[in-house]
Amino acid sequence: MIDIASQLAHIVGERFVSNNPEEAFFYARDPGLMPAHKPDYVVVPKTASEIQEILRLASRERIPVVPMGAGMSLTGLVIPLRGGIVIDMKRMNRILEVNEKARYVIVEGGTSHGALKAYLDKHCPRLRHSIPDSPATATVAANVMIHGQGRLTQQYGFNSDMVSGLEVVLPSGEICTIGSCALSPYWFSKGAPLPDLTGLFLGWFGATGIITKVALKLYPRKKMRDVEIFVTDRDDLVPDMVYELTHTEMVEDINIFAQPMPMIFKDNHHITLFITGDTDEELEFKRKMVWNCLDGFIKSKDGGFMSVPPVMKPTLLDMPQRSVSRFADVKKGGGFEYSGPIIPVETYPACTRKVMELGSKYDLAYSAMARVIGRNHAMMFGFAFTFNRADPQMMERTRKALEEGGEFALAAGGVFWKPTIDEQRLALEKMDATTRDLMKMIKENLDPLGIMNPGNWEVV
Ligand SMILES: Cc1cc2nc3c(=O)[nH]c(=O)nc-3n(C[C@H](O)[C@H](O)[C@H](O)COP(=O)(O)OP(=O)(O)OC[C@H]3O[C@@H](n4cnc5c(N)ncnc54)[C@H](O)[C@@H]3O)c2cc1C
Repeated sequence: MIDIASQLAHIVGERFVSNNPEEAFFYARDPGLMPAHKPDYVVVPKTASEIQEILRLASRERIPVVPMGAGMSLTGLVIPLRGGIVIDMKRMNRILEVNEKARYVIVEGGTSHGALKAYLDKHCPRLRHSIPDSPATATVAANVMIHGQGRLTQQYGFNSDMVSGLEVVLPSGEICTIGSCALSPYWFSKGAPLPDLTGLFLGWFGATGIITKVALKLYPRKKMRDVEIFVTDRDDLVPDMVYELTHTEMVEDINIFAQPMPMIFKDNHHITLFITGDTDEELEFKRKMVWNCLDGFIKSKDGGFMSVPPVMKPTLLDMPQRSVSRFADVKKGGGFEYSGPIIPVETYPACTRKVMELGSKYDLAYSAMARVIGRNHAMMFGFAFTFNRADPQMMERTRKALEEGGEFALAAGGVFWKPTIDEQRLALEKMDATTRDLMKMIKENLDPLGIMNPGNWEVV
């Protein structure tokens, strides 16, 4: 019988492979609510060719493989449901190239958003990327893999829409480039004018290949950035307000939150607007456009701008914004999870009422938090709850509340985002049968042995 641990050590070096119980304990879980399952081995490769060799070994020996970034997606997507090898990508963290004029960056598959932001702050102060509000350790590759959203999503769509090229190791161990980089030294486009093959990988949770390089579009960074908050108690008018705001094309990012704590927030919806400019004039012009577009709602006494207290501003302008993580500590025990379906903006009122109903039904502290995607094209709606990890009953209540919230959003016309295994099953059941067959065909062709992140997007 072959000794897998020594084969892995031969590939990555002894220090970077482990089957110790302590390590297996940590890599068996993520910070969310999904049940743990231990891997047999953890490896931390440094190069794409090491990943190629790991996948060849896994194919030969039929061992499951789960790629992992920071493990912050919360919904169990990095939990090795059938054991096998967890590939921790963190050592592949180099920023390989910035093309300042064409505004893109190429990073390795384990580079974190925090590291990319720090690099751009220091070396390319006129450029920025769409940073999500996840902890700064979250990786760029995993974020686009799960179609994440960030600070520029209202303007440019999902973070995955901003990908301009990929390098992927296929389950067979072959390596390929996707996009303009497949035939040009420039990584300016993920597809057009060629067929867009990124869809074979993005959204698949590593079940069709491992991303070893990502090119991401960068955008102009303005010198100034400010925040305004429009407050309303009319949830039914929020979609119209967002429609007017997106019509101005003056706002960088629109987030909405509704939560009962602190008391001052109760029963209100806070539309948080981020505005940028290179000069005072530009900033003020944009601010005026934003104020004017909501004039009608102010006149009808359906809402108004609140003055943002100076102590609150730095928190709101922080990138990533840490207030979401702090929400986890509202209840003793520090647990936090959200189900974040992508919904039509018009269903915001129904979803907000649902999160409040679930909060009181399951006796949980809740927050409804939304981010506008594109020019009102959709919205990520977070049914967010906090819980005490030391209280199993409370965790079970949270699980139920999240499940009900996700199913409600699905019935209302939304689509799960970073779905749990159960949500993936529900989505596959509801999906057009021919689309499902197409997914099956893709999965079976790319991963005929079914070794890649098994359990995920498994079409039976
Ligand atoms: C407080 C908080 C706030 C958050 N706010 C946001 C937000 O504003 N926007 C947002 O988008 N998300 C947010 N998230 C969710 C999540 O943290 C991010 O989406 C994050 O980018 C996930 O990255 P990760 O490296 O942790 O992914 P992981 O959990 O490690 O991986 C996610 C998936 O990608 C796969 N994967 C990982 N690396 C690779 C690779 N190289 N190749 C192939 N597959 C791979 C994994 O197998 C898994 O299926 C938030 C989370 C928290 C806890």
